[in-house]
Amino acid sequence: MKKMPKPRTIAANPDAWSAESKQSVAFEHRLTKEYADIGYRCWRCGRPSIFTAEEQRCAYEVKKAYIAQTRILCAACWRESNDIAAQLEACEKRWKQSKKRTEA
Ligand SMILES: [Zn+2]
Repeated sequence: MKKMPKPRTIAANPDAWSAESKQSVAFEHRLTKEYADIGYRCWRCGRPSIFTAEEQRCAYEVKKAYIAQTRILCAACWRESNDIAAQLEACEKRWKQSKKRTEA
């Protein structure tokens, strides 16, 4: 019998969650004892990806993301989407500055 690889788990520390996350049912009832690797398919390219236990711990406890937040993009698409967002922001900044100049 072929055994499925056991998903890695990491102990969770919900006390490190954001204030918003602490208002969740998961926190109130202490449902989250550990994080486990979550497999998913990238919404954009369809590649199978893993939101690892360690990435979850970092997202919820270090970056204080909301606890219900999950991933829909693979690492490559995520990076690309961040790049596009940064370019848009830079573009918007330039546009606002040029607008200010013409209004003055
Ligand atoms: Zn992708």
